[in-house]
Amino acid sequence: MKLNKTSALALVMGDPESLREQAHAKRCQILSGDEATYIIMRIVSYTNVCVANCSYCAFYRRPNDPEGYVLSDEAIFKKIDDLLAAGGRLVAMEGGFHPKLKIDHYEDLFRAVRERYGNAVEIYGPTIVEVIFIARSSRISLEEALKRLWNAGLRWIPGGGAEILTDTWRQKLSPLKYSVHDYLDGMELAQSLGFGTTATMVIGFGESWEDRIEHLEHIRALQNKTGGFSSFLLWTYQSDHTVLGGSRISNDEYLKAVALSRLYLDNIPIIRASFLTQGAQGPAALKWGASDFDIALEDQVTQKAGTLLESNVEKVLEWVREAGIKPVKREPFILHHLH
Ligand code: SF4
Repeated sequence: MKLNKTSALALVMGDPESLREQAHAKRCQILSGDEATYIIMRIVSYTNVCVANCSYCAFYRRPNDPEGYVLSDEAIFKKIDDLLAAGGRLVAMEGGFHPKLKIDHYEDLFRAVRERYGNAVEIYGPTIVEVIFIARSSRISLEEALKRLWNAGLRWIPGGGAEILTDTWRQKLSPLKYSVHDYLDGMELAQSLGFGTTATMVIGFGESWEDRIEHLEHIRALQNKTGGFSSFLLWTYQSDHTVLGGSRISNDEYLKAVALSRLYLDNIPIIRASFLTQGAQGPAALKWGASDFDIALEDQVTQKAGTLLESNVEKVLEWVREAGIKPVKREPFILHHLH
């Protein structure tokens, strides 16, 4: 039965074991319950300078802050070389709203990565909110910015920057990070131009289950229209050193949200577990609807907010095996060969 807002709310307020069983059954239609796929990746934050001032972010520095940085090509290459040596091929390149970096900076960066690595790595990023910022500060349309990034070798716009897709929460947490409408329209435009995209949600700011379901409804509706999302990743707000403060939600609540996402997003093939934020508790999500996970070698954004990232690939795989699941390595989806 297709969930709607009312039935989804009733489901998540009901018996947790029944929710888990339903989500797990759905997940097993996609991949055997004894297996989970994974990818080794690295999040390279090319700059931490940002003028968006999101209250939940411990990563950014204002322009002129002595701790602000922009990574050189050489520093980025070194990080990618280390990723390749560890068996990973996916480099997520995300940063902040840097007021001085215009579109040509990003074109040069992605071109340089493509020239050096070809299709040996896949690049995810920047997020659509960053591209909207780049377009506006470069005084070009979003469409032109996306096309120029495509021509520089970018093929994926990941779903970060969504957090909770309600305008009330965006106003509260990140009023300069554009509206729900801007986010969804931007993703739809990227999908129409051929970019691969992923969808995300971050929970734990104090939002209600109704807010979370509204977010899922937006994602499902766009997916019904375009079919452009390859996966959905749910993670939890990390509260250390942020202006917003607060505390982390429990893993039990996270697991319920994963299960609800699996059932609500019946049109998205892969639900990914966030080992980055859930750590050794992450594998539990593989029995609550998720069938895939990332092993990240680095993520400055969540590490600055207090996560203890486990970058030892073998150790993470052991967590999964201990949960009775066989980890199966997959390659990043390569969308298009470069011309
Ligand atoms: S979450 Fe991103 S956009 Fe918001 S302040 Fe941090 S770096 Fe900037």
